[in-house]
Amino acid sequence: MKQGTIRIDDLEQLIAGILKSFRMYAPVADGGGVALSELKKGQSPLLDYHGLKKPIKELFFPQSETILKSEGDALKSVPVREEKRIVFGIRPCDARALQQMDSVFADGEYRDPYYTARRRDTLILSLACREPQDICFCTSIGGGPFDERGSDVLMFKDADTLLFQACSSAGTSFLTEFNDHFKRPTAVLTETRKKAVAKARKKSLRFKGERLFDRLDGSLEPAFWDTLAWRCLGCAVCTYLCPTCHCFTFSDQSSTDGGERSRNWDACSLELFTREASGHNPRSSKGQRIKQRIMHKFRYAKENFGDTFCVGCGRCISNCPVNMDIREIIGGIIQ
Ligand code: SF4
Ligand code: SF4
Repeated sequence: MKQGTIRIDDLEQLIAGILKSFRMYAPVADGGGVALSELKKGQSPLLDYHGLKKPIKELFFPQSETILKSEGDALKSVPVREEKRIVFGIRPCDARALQQMDSVFADGEYRDPYYTARRRDTLILSLACREPQDICFCTSIGGGPFDERGSDVLMFKDADTLLFQACSSAGTSFLTEFNDHFKRPTAVLTETRKKAVAKARKKSLRFKGERLFDRLDGSLEPAFWDTLAWRCLGCAVCTYLCPTCHCFTFSDQSSTDGGERSRNWDACSLELFTREASGHNPRSSKGQRIKQRIMHKFRYAKENFGDTFCVGCGRCISNCPVNMDIREIIGGIIQ
């Protein structure tokens, strides 16, 4: 795979070159946290940060998006804005989550034209995690701090140097296009990277997740889920901030000039998600809804798409208002 290194002091020049032909999104300080934001000339991305508060799915699958407009009797679909984009410096778990979203929106028989166009026009340059946080558990569920899945280029930072390694043909083309900015990696840097992979993997391994699929065979008693529900508020923060949760609903609005249809995020952890017009709700209790979320992520997704729909990013742990911890739920399942 094609590789190249750049001194961090020289990154500004590379970014200036990229901005001539791409819109670029990268982590920047935002209040007390870190957000993905469009980078302007002269702005530097954050390289030493733990994780983005919000997942990057919004760039491909916005929280709310108008897809149809009507004017008089005419109904028109809203076209996707075509633009070349680079997402720079996201963590490998978020890139892997995109691959899981692809299996829903882009790889099957029915393809979402909005999502597919944005994925086609976006390069993903992720940044390996040397120091996974306490809430991270990517290695426990088949990922890793240096996972290449979903990335076009995986970067590795060591002191004042960034090592770029292509992971796809689009990534190779990117490194070729900007070849003048890169040097060949030294043997010392290659060796440092190898040692960092092993160290980071060890740090993000919390449990053995392979048993999850078999344990979620439907034999867990309803009481198991109802006990979890006692604490959960049903606020759906965990679902909205999850990089792989992708349920949506449609909403129609009309005015005297016409109307529009929008697609909006929805969440299986909300009571209204399954409530039918008759008032009947097949998932009327919080226990049933927690069960659905866990079964979907760790059993149904694997049956339907061959991978779990959790990347171990830990967002649902750090943002839950009542400190629900998905690792404890998993621990209770696989014990
Ligand atoms: S964030 Fe916590 S309280 Fe809110 S729905 Fe998720 S698990 Fe329940
Ligand atoms: S379920 Fe939690 S840990 Fe897993 S990907 Fe979603 S937010 Fe991250």
